[in-house]
Amino acid sequence: MTVTVKFCGAAGTVTGSSYLVQHPGGRLLVDCGMFQGAKTIRELNYGGFPFDPSHIDRVLLTHAHIDHSGLIPKLCRNGFRGPILATRETIELLEWMLPDSGAIQEAEVARLNRRNARRSRAGVEAIYTRLDAEQSLHQFRPVPFGEWTEAGTGLRARYWNSGHILGGASIELEIATGRPRRPTLRLLFSGDIGPVGKPLQNDPHAPSGYDCLIVESTYGGRERPVLGDEERRGVLRGIVRESLEAGGNLLIPAFAVERTQELLFDLLELMAAGELPRVHVFLDSPLAVRATEVFERHMDPALRGRHSGPSPFRAANVRFVTDQEESYQISQVRGGAIIIAGSGMCDAGRIRTHLKNNLWREKATVLLVGYQAPGTLGSLLEQGVKAVRIHGDEVAVNARIRKIDLYSGHADHHGLLDWVRERLPLRRSIFLTHGEEASLAALAAALPAIGIDPAQIVVPRLDETYAVDRGGLAHRVRDSVPPRLAADQMDPALWGRDWHNEYAALALDLQHRLQQATSDRERARLLSRLRRQLDR
Ligand SMILES: [Zn+2]
Repeated sequence: MTVTVKFCGAAGTVTGSSYLVQHPGGRLLVDCGMFQGAKTIRELNYGGFPFDPSHIDRVLLTHAHIDHSGLIPKLCRNGFRGPILATRETIELLEWMLPDSGAIQEAEVARLNRRNARRSRAGVEAIYTRLDAEQSLHQFRPVPFGEWTEAGTGLRARYWNSGHILGGASIELEIATGRPRRPTLRLLFSGDIGPVGKPLQNDPHAPSGYDCLIVESTYGGRERPVLGDEERRGVLRGIVRESLEAGGNLLIPAFAVERTQELLFDLLELMAAGELPRVHVFLDSPLAVRATEVFERHMDPALRGRHSGPSPFRAANVRFVTDQEESYQISQVRGGAIIIAGSGMCDAGRIRTHLKNNLWREKATVLLVGYQAPGTLGSLLEQGVKAVRIHGDEVAVNARIRKIDLYSGHADHHGLLDWVRERLPLRRSIFLTHGEEASLAALAAALPAIGIDPAQIVVPRLDETYAVDRGGLAHRVRDSVPPRLAADQMDPALWGRDWHNEYAALALDLQHRLQQATSDRERARLLSRLRRQLDR
């Protein structure tokens, strides 16, 4: 029997990582991630899997991020009964993240169904619930870094630090082929690869010499400035000082895992060195507080910097807030505090209440510290809009909006190339995944310069299957399950901005024009012009 890899996600796009490996001893999944971003892609979360979950014998999970782990509760609900192998850190993070994701799915569907009911449309069911997520946690089994683990009949796996987030791994597979000349096949799934010199993680590492590599491409074609700890903290110090001097609060919308801990770590380092005043810092996010506790249990002691105490994330002036009532009290603080709250793109969570109470104040500052997807509240603030709607109310944006791009979980273009070069020699093929089209193309174009033959490079599309152990190179094989997206939906160029996004942008522009109009007559004229276009 041939060994095949089917690309069930993160193929031609970034999210939904999931690879089905069929081998002589069974079937396993590497990752089972949720699709995020454009609506065409997100709808895949509601449909069926391109395989029967009850036929999968194991899941091997690279890391806790929802775009790699988020469909595990659905997989279990739909019949998967096997073990899920992940590092202990990943499991502890998911004990909070998956139930949180379940609660988000339930809330989203409740909102959608209220709208459907008003339009006399049938209701939809949540992708999974908090309870589904809690039940799936029983199937997790911890695996250590750097040691072989039996992962099926004739198959073993090793996990290597990928330098991306706490517990994040690249996964090496060694598969018995039953062939006398080449008894084993070696594959390496990169997971997400972190940058060298990341604040709280050791640099990525794995052995070399594989039949096939499956490599993420998020930052293909893009370079980031390489800043040391001192330089990075210098930029943060400048913005924090400026915000405190203005007299208002500094709001930082932050992602619960890793970004929050990096920010807390740097803020406390600066305060301990006397470079920033010890103002109140509120970490107002139950999920981020839980994630920080996982960091405290598992972080490499060598990375703790000047902190000698039990935690590099705590100090007398830092308050961890989980209680809703206390969160409300913080939202009454008018100035001089640093408030870190989720979500990172401001589209959910407690940051929205804090934004509502601070955005209209000229002395307040909002610091964006990560990627803001199109259509999110964070991206509107980034674009400099003058007013936003939060919880149904219009709020003027008078606060100063700042952005820093120094905290990244991903290696850039050269970081990815360095990682691949260190994994050579490569016997067969390299698959490029987990990237937008331009990033995939840029990375593919750069690989020949490090000694990879162009014929070895494959950029798979969603739901394509490749045989990886016959002849020299991997080659595509027919699959009995048809692809989930039709040919015209397979154009990744359409995924970033499908018509739903176009519509949202148009509605926003229209609203803006109506607000800017000087009289109701002008507004009426604009609307009747639009109406004539529609009726043509
Ligand atoms: Zn990730």
